[in-house]
Amino acid sequence: MASGKIRLVHLYPDLMSVYGDRGNVLTLWRRAEWRGIELEVKELTLGDTLDPAEADVIFFGGGQDREQAVVSPDFLRQKGEAVREAVEDGAALLSVCGGYQLLGQSYTTVEGQELPGAGLFDVRSVPGPQRHIGNVLIETDLDGQRRTLVGFENHSGRTFLGPGVRPLGRTVVGAGNNGEDGTEGAVIKTAIGCYLHGSLLPKNPWLADRLLAAALRHRLREPVTLEPLDDRLEEEAHQAVAARIRGAGGRVKSGAW
Ligand code: GLN
Repeated sequence: MASGKIRLVHLYPDLMSVYGDRGNVLTLWRRAEWRGIELEVKELTLGDTLDPAEADVIFFGGGQDREQAVVSPDFLRQKGEAVREAVEDGAALLSVCGGYQLLGQSYTTVEGQELPGAGLFDVRSVPGPQRHIGNVLIETDLDGQRRTLVGFENHSGRTFLGPGVRPLGRTVVGAGNNGEDGTEGAVIKTAIGCYLHGSLLPKNPWLADRLLAAALRHRLREPVTLEPLDDRLEEEAHQAVAARIRGAGGRVKSGAW
C-alpha cells in the first residue's frame, strides 16, 4: 500500500477561506496521516511565489469580491502560471467558489470590475441578478461510477463553461455553475473547480481520496493504491446530508448534460 510524503499548497488561507473551506485541508491531512502518509502544508499568500515542483496538491478556497480583487493581481503575477504547470505535470487541485472563479478566464465582480483569471479552466464568471445560497446535491461520474457529492453554495457569480469543458457533475438540488444549464464545477486532468463549500471533503470522502491518490502519484511517479479506511461515519454523514437536501424540497432538476 502507498506510503510516503506529499506536499499541499494552500493558496491565500488568510484571504480566501469561507464556510469551512479550511476543513478540506484538515481532511486531506488527516486521511493521509491515518495511512502513514505525511502531508506537509505550505501556506502561500500575497507576495509569495509558487514553485510548481513543490506542490503535489493545491487548495484554493472561496472569498468575497473584495478579497478576490486583492488576490487577483498577485495570483496572476506570482502563482497562476505555476498552478497551470503543476496541474499539467499531474498535481491534484481543488478550488472552491472564489478560487474556482480566479482559475477561470475571468471573473467580473458585482461592481463590474473584471478580474482576469489564470485560465486553468476555460470558464468565465459574471455577476448574476440573485445570490445562490443553500445546500447542493450533485451527481458525478468523475471516477467512472455515478456518485453524489453534497456541499453548500453561496455565490452571486455565474460560471459558464467554454466549449468542451467537462463539468464536475450535474446538479440535482442547487444552482451549481449558473442556475441555468444544470452543470456544477469543472474538471481538467486531476484539477477540480466547484461551488461546493461546507466543508466539502469530510462528507465526501471518496473525493478526498481521489485527490490524495493523485497527489501521491504525482510525488512517487508511479501508480498508487490507497489503503481503505473505515468510512462508516463519513458515509453516514453524507447520506444524512443528502437525504436532508432531497427532503428539503429544493429545486430539483433533471435531464442530460
Ligand atoms: N464573490 C464570489 C461570488 O459571490 C465568490 C463567493 C464565494 O467564494 N463564496 O460569486
